Amino acid sequence: MAIVGGGIIGLACAFRAQQRGLSVCVLERGTAGGGATRAAAGVLAPDPETPGFTALAQRSAELWPAFAAELGDVGYTRCGSLVLAFGDAPIELDGERLDGAACRALEPGIAADCVGGLLLADDAQVDPRRVAAALAHRLGDAVRTSTDVVDVTPESVGLADGARIEADRVVLAAGAWSSRRLAKRLAVRPVKGQTLRLRGPLPATRIIRSEHVYVVPRASGETVIGATVEDAGYDETPTDSATELLLRQAVRAVPAVAELELVEAVASLRPATPDDGPLIGEWEGLLVACGHFRNGILLAPVTADAVVALLSGDAPPAEVAPFDPQRFD
Ligand SMILES: Cc1cc2nc3c(=O)[nH]c(=O)nc-3n(C[C@H](O)[C@H](O)[C@H](O)COP(=O)(O)OP(=O)(O)OC[C@H]3O[C@@H](n4cnc5c(N)ncnc54)[C@H](O)[C@@H]3O)c2cc1C
Repeated sequence: MAIVGGGIIGLACAFRAQQRGLSVCVLERGTAGGGATRAAAGVLAPDPETPGFTALAQRSAELWPAFAAELGDVGYTRCGSLVLAFGDAPIELDGERLDGAACRALEPGIAADCVGGLLLADDAQVDPRRVAAALAHRLGDAVRTSTDVVDVTPESVGLADGARIEADRVVLAAGAWSSRRLAKRLAVRPVKGQTLRLRGPLPATRIIRSEHVYVVPRASGETVIGATVEDAGYDETPTDSATELLLRQAVRAVPAVAELELVEAVASLRPATPDDGPLIGEWEGLLVACGHFRNGILLAPVTADAVVALLSGDAPPAEVAPFDPQRFD
């Protein structure tokens, strides 16, 4: 089986497929985990959206602890989130409502004028870069990096060097690039996002979310700030203006962020779809696993289970049914 794309989705599918005894080859044009996976903050927050999406996200959130445990220390922790309010706008999420003083008692690094918040105890985080590295390590020679796929058919993939690889099944997991050259009619488009990595004393003990920004403190000493949402085609260049905006918004919500040193700004492309839900299933003879938009890290375990079930002739998890790639045809 050939899997096109070595982001978290392609790697997770390959890992589960290998565990089922299937022969897999991941074809990645750059480095494993180098696409949106590398930019992602790794917030695992199954926020309610459509009923179908919420069920899928919750199923995957439940799978994460065991999935992470299989991979070793990938920074998985159910640290919870505190969603801050600064005005009258209601926070449309279920959780424990706190007043401003209670928020500051929990997280002294947040802004003094925060008027209240919502504690989401089940939110978790993971380090997507460590997840990708752990998956790639376990897959070993099954991952071929620097291997650019230029076309796909249901039985083969063509490489930029002219070679052709035959496969019994082809899984398309090329993230936002899935529809660029490979499956042009697939309903996926790129939505640029930028995150920052900072180092220094952790500004909080849990994820802090506000209307415009989130701040993710990691036990490793890294704090991730995200994220912009930009319509910029396939442009993946980090910009000074986005860095300034994210820093300003993060310091506004969590002044303790001002003490940190900026070490990296990164931009990549979220794979978006018309209804923001992923594409998981059969499509024109290919098995498609893309379009995970803002939630591909969260949705990796359930996507991998679904893809391997489909490859093995088993029933995929019921929560995947609304995300048939043919729904936009
Ligand atoms: C700024 C930002 C923040 C985010 N934060 C979060 C978060 O906190 N939580 C969350 O759950 N999700 C988050 N996401 C979304 C998440 O990163 C994506 O949904 C997820 O990475 C999608 O995984 P993927 O494997 O489909 O795509 P990618 O991670 O983009 O991987 C696709 C891979 O395919 C490869 N590829 C593409 N074309 C070809 C080709 N022709 N030949 C060979 N290889 C190819 C690419 O090089 C890439 O490595 C964020 C995304 C961004 C951009």
